[in-house]
Amino acid sequence: MQPMNAPLASLQLVKTPLAWDNRFHSLGASFYTSLAPQPLPAPYWVGRSQGAADLLGLEASWMDSPELLQGLSGNLPISGTQPLASVYSGHQFGNWAGQLGDGRAILLGEVRGWEVQLKGSGLTPYSRMGDGRAVLRSSIREFLCSEAMHALGIPTTRALCVTGSDAPIVRETLETAAVVTRLAPSFIRFGHFEHFASRGQQTELKTLADFVIDHFYPACRSQPTLGDNAYASWLKAVVERTAVMVAHWQAVGFCHGVMNTDNMSILGLTMDYGPFAFMDAFDPGHICNHTDRGGRYAFNAQPEIAHWNLYALAHALLPLIESPKLAEQALDAFEPLFASTYQGLMRAKLGLATLPEPVAPGQAQLGHEAAQTFIRDTLALLAQDRVDYTIFWRRLSHARAGGDYEPVRALFISRPAFDAWLLRYQELVAQAVQGLQADFMLKVNPKFVLRNYLGEQAIEAARRKDFTGVANLLAVLQRPYDEHPAHDTMAGFPPDWASQIEISCSS
Ligand code: AMP
Ligand code: MG
Repeated sequence: MQPMNAPLASLQLVKTPLAWDNRFHSLGASFYTSLAPQPLPAPYWVGRSQGAADLLGLEASWMDSPELLQGLSGNLPISGTQPLASVYSGHQFGNWAGQLGDGRAILLGEVRGWEVQLKGSGLTPYSRMGDGRAVLRSSIREFLCSEAMHALGIPTTRALCVTGSDAPIVRETLETAAVVTRLAPSFIRFGHFEHFASRGQQTELKTLADFVIDHFYPACRSQPTLGDNAYASWLKAVVERTAVMVAHWQAVGFCHGVMNTDNMSILGLTMDYGPFAFMDAFDPGHICNHTDRGGRYAFNAQPEIAHWNLYALAHALLPLIESPKLAEQALDAFEPLFASTYQGLMRAKLGLATLPEPVAPGQAQLGHEAAQTFIRDTLALLAQDRVDYTIFWRRLSHARAGGDYEPVRALFISRPAFDAWLLRYQELVAQAVQGLQADFMLKVNPKFVLRNYLGEQAIEAARRKDFTGVANLLAVLQRPYDEHPAHDTMAGFPPDWASQIEISCSS
């Protein structure tokens, strides 16, 4: 293994057309350690996203650049970057874990407002017992899921590419190394604030809070929404973004798996993709992380856990907010916004988003409650028969467009229960605004999600150096509402072996 600050193989600089900036670097040395990524032998491209490249203004020819391949694998310094690993702490599985930090990620800098980070790029002072590396398997999963979530309209960090190497990496078995190049306006986590708060470093806490407010939440200072207090207003804004993010997760059937406070983005972005899963058969108590024996991060626990994490953030920010009452008010924004966003998304999935708003106050209440009850009953029915979550919604969308509900009915074991449900559904549909395009539900209910088994197949092929599986899956996931008839099999039921896949924290 290379020593931590080994001089790079050559001092030749990779010159890119990118104009680099680094606002995080300008915060000063209390927030990070400057260091270069460690080289990775003989890297090769595994996957690349032009959609992410567009954010940086990279022309398609970047994919042919051997220099960029080396630069993004940590083998050559990229001109204009100021690489660093940041320090943070956090609560893991509900317990205070103390200092963590970027143990295997290095922030290169920022291009057009997008921070560029290499994940798996070698040891840092925050690596603790780890090797600073990421394996091919988890890197492909993070890459594909970041881009898939974006295409689903869910707030997320992005991923530009994965580069691989045959360098051996020890996990439960021997695997190989890879680096994901991730993008986000900021990779600052709840845990960054917990870090400085836990050490009583008030100056740093304030500096970091002001940085985030100035760059990402300026309205909280210019037009505070809570008690003329910029910090409380900002906390409320973070609460709101987090509530919206988790509402999306619940609606699409996404299970994050490791909602530790160090994996919670201060911008309300889905981040740190580990043992995540899109549910196949609907099970509200689904636990996607094999390591999470107690089910702390089970699917249906996610909203409550997000709220818990926000309490941890609020606690860290109290020295700035100064008023526990205002902090409490900020936190209280979570439940109503989560509920209304979730209801809205589920109504859209049902094609009932356009139920007319009744005029009389009593009626309005009824309409809302009727939809809420119906959503709950729909999910209970799916859970009872363990119906495939994505296929149900897609078939329902086609049924609504074409009038034939038989393919939906075929998904259920308890047909009488389904028939009763369908009667109620059709009554609600009759009340909904008419004259919509027949296919409108097909634009909110994706045909393709990153099922674990699809990821596994692409990973298996990539291990044999066949990267077409990654590229094909990416292309489909980048347009998840389109039919892609050539890839119909990717929208089918998962094979039997899919339920045996065990994804742990090991990555
Ligand atoms: P995670 O559970 O992946 O979010 O990681 C929790 C903490 O462990 C973070 O500080 C990571 O940087 C660190 N970490 C995870 N895997 C490794 C690794 N292989 N080498 C060094 N640090 C790691
Ligand atoms: Mg993490």
